Amino acid sequence: MPNFSYQSRGRKVAVLKTSASHLPIVALKIVDETKAGMERSAMTEGVRCSPSFHFVPFRLLLTPPKLGHTPQRITKNKNSQFVPIGGTMKPSRQSLFMNNFLELSSTELAKIVDDWQLPAYRITQIRRWIFARKVTAFEQMTDLPKSVRTLLSEHFGTILSGNELSRLQSDDSTQKLLIEWNDGERIECVLLQNHRHHRTACVSTQVGCAMRCAFCASGMDGFVRNLTRGEILEQLLRLNALLSDNERLTHVVVMGIGEPLLNLDALLSALDEATSTDGLDISVRRVTISTVGIPAGIRKLAEAVVQSGKGYKLAVSLHAPNDELRSQFIPYNRSTSIAEILSATDEYFGKTGRRVTFEYTLLKGVNDHQEHVAQLADLLRKRTAIVNVIPLNPVLELGFRAPSSGAVLRFVEQLEESGIQVKVRFRRGNKIAAACGQLRRCRLSENLRLP
Ligand code: SAH
Repeated sequence: MPNFSYQSRGRKVAVLKTSASHLPIVALKIVDETKAGMERSAMTEGVRCSPSFHFVPFRLLLTPPKLGHTPQRITKNKNSQFVPIGGTMKPSRQSLFMNNFLELSSTELAKIVDDWQLPAYRITQIRRWIFARKVTAFEQMTDLPKSVRTLLSEHFGTILSGNELSRLQSDDSTQKLLIEWNDGERIECVLLQNHRHHRTACVSTQVGCAMRCAFCASGMDGFVRNLTRGEILEQLLRLNALLSDNERLTHVVVMGIGEPLLNLDALLSALDEATSTDGLDISVRRVTISTVGIPAGIRKLAEAVVQSGKGYKLAVSLHAPNDELRSQFIPYNRSTSIAEILSATDEYFGKTGRRVTFEYTLLKGVNDHQEHVAQLADLLRKRTAIVNVIPLNPVLELGFRAPSSGAVLRFVEQLEESGIQVKVRFRRGNKIAAACGQLRRCRLSENLRLP
């Protein structure tokens, strides 16, 4: 079944997904194609040929295919030339991602390798190049035969599908990347390094965010779309590649743009690769998923952890000790309650044995009063929990203010005196707009001056 089709000058043009390769293809009229060339194409692409139409992968169009563009003439070799029969490309968004290598699960990749009649150990070789040796082009995989490298390059193009628009570095060795995807949407991800040799990737899960927390830049322009598994994985690969050859990522925090529990399947699929020994080999215990607190999502995650045995750390953005206050700056809280969230986190702890972290971003004059310390302590005292206090990283347009360092210390001390375990997450990367979604917004408004 075509993913979509459209009429053009009386002819039907179809974009199909082939079952063998998940390859998006488009029908183009063949102008000058020798029989040998046609057979070769049919074989390597694994797609159908007909006398007047040839189905070719998107990536053979002068790529990247952009929505609304008209396909251009393609010269594949000196004997074969494809000319589009007209019309404007309107690929479904899904089809834009289908020939991205990183989108393939291990089962899907195994199927393709099998279809191509290659030995299964090629998969191990390819994965080692990508995950351990940080290679981003099939051509660089020198222990693969040239023919296999060419096949892979022709089929998938490059390994990374996005485009790095900017790379910002702050004094404290925090680096932030702004990445643009095939459809023009942008996200950001951050590499944090500390003196304990922690190399932490902070990744986004969505373009924009539907949660619209009042102090956070990510939701200011609303929600656009979920990221795919490949796009989440690509952020990790790009951040890993910023490190020197003998270093690799040690930690992942899912604290970039978006609400991870609203894109859980893609996230878990990417994290599977991040934590598998033949993937990025990051310890499961060093992966933290941060959520606004969606009880059903927390339960679904707990279930997934039980099934897979991968006990990721859960962090909940509490930020307030009572519903009245929380609902004032976290709109999502109006459709749930702190009690419901805590009941779900109790379940998470019960099922996974992993202690839950509660994040508390301190907003000056809003949630930093002494009575808030007492209420928070009452909520958490009987729980095996830890509070992560985060001084606000102010976003100019949003109007919230950061507490002084003295006020942060006072809040932390009082909380500890009330019997709660506390950690403070100091601000990093201020100069590079490190608060979630800030860099993307700078670019969205074409205001390139960073705070
Ligand atoms: N949607 C997820 C991930 C968000 S980012 C969540 O809500 O947890 C990770 C953390 O940073 C959250 O606790 C979020 O509330 C917090 N945060 C967002 N913007 C911030 C800012 N400007 N200053 C300090 N913390 C911020």
